[in-house]
Amino acid sequence: MSYVATLISDKGITPSFVDEFETVLRTESATVLRPEMLSDSAGLGGTQAMDFYLDIDSSNITSLKQSLFDLSSKSYGVDIILQPADRESRRDKGLFVFDMDSTLIQQEVIDMIAAYVNVEAEVSKITASAMNGEIDFTESLRQRVALLAGAPADVFDSLKSQIKITPGAKELTRALKKKGVKMAVLSGGFIPLASWLKDQLGLDYAYANNLEVSEDGKTLVGKTYGRIINSTAKADLLKEIAEKENVDLSRVVAVGDGSNDLEMMGVAGYGIAWNAKPLVQQKAPSRLNTKSLQDILYILGYNDKEQKELIL
Ligand SMILES: [Mg+2]
Repeated sequence: MSYVATLISDKGITPSFVDEFETVLRTESATVLRPEMLSDSAGLGGTQAMDFYLDIDSSNITSLKQSLFDLSSKSYGVDIILQPADRESRRDKGLFVFDMDSTLIQQEVIDMIAAYVNVEAEVSKITASAMNGEIDFTESLRQRVALLAGAPADVFDSLKSQIKITPGAKELTRALKKKGVKMAVLSGGFIPLASWLKDQLGLDYAYANNLEVSEDGKTLVGKTYGRIINSTAKADLLKEIAEKENVDLSRVVAVGDGSNDLEMMGVAGYGIAWNAKPLVQQKAPSRLNTKSLQDILYILGYNDKEQKELIL
C-alpha cells in the first residue's frame, strides 16, 4: 500500500538523519518510491519539510509507525508523520478543531488569572497534574476555579492584551478558511477568551467553560455554570459541529496538546499533538513539535509555494 512519510523540523533535516530514516524503512521492508521537497531549502519560518512516498505492506504499518516514532524521539528534533498517500484525502478537510491553551495561544489562561489572585503556585500544580493525566480534568477544573473566587470579573479584559497567539496560527487559519474548512476552538478554559480568539482568527465556533459572576457583577464566584468542557465534551462537540456542517468525521482534524484532547483526536479522522505532553505524543495519531502552527499545512501536503498562495 502507498503511504507518505513527512519529515518536518525547524532544527534542520540532516543527511545523516535521512540515512538513519532510510535504514529504519529497509528494516521494516518499506520501499521509497520517491522523495519530494515541501519546503524551499530553508522553508517558511525556518522549517524544513519533505515527503517520502513509500510502498509498505499494510501488515507492517504498526511496526513501522513505532519504529519511526522511536527514531523521531531521539534528540534530532525531526517529526515524522505517516499517512496514506492519497493526495485528495490528505488535503480534503472539512473541519479543524483546536484546543486553545498551549495550542492556539501560548499560555494557560487559568495560570494568568491565578497570577492576579496570587494562587499561581496552587493552580499550576493542579493544571500540571491534570494535563499529565494524573487527575480527572473535571475535578481539576473545579479545584482550580474554586481558587479564583474573589478575582475581578473583568479580569479577562485585562488579560487579552497579554495573550500570545501561537506563531503560525493566523497563517494556518487564513489558509484553511481559504480552502473552505470550518474551524472551532474547543477549550477547557473560559468562554470570554475563547470567543475573543474566535474573532481574532476568524473561526466559526468557540466553546469553553463559563465562570459564574457575583450578583453585583464585580467578582468571580469560583464556580462554573453550564456545560463543562472536558475531554468527553470536546469529542461530543466535535461530532455535533461536524454533523451540523455536514462534514464526515473522516474529514475532521483535531489539534491539541493535552491529555484532554486525546478523546477528540480519537473521534476525528486525524489528530495532531501540538508540542504535547509526552503521554499525548505517544497516543496521538501524529505529532508536531515545531514553533509554527503553519507547519500543519506541510502535513496536509502543501509546499511553500502553495502555502504562500493560500495565505495571501
Ligand atoms: Mg491545551
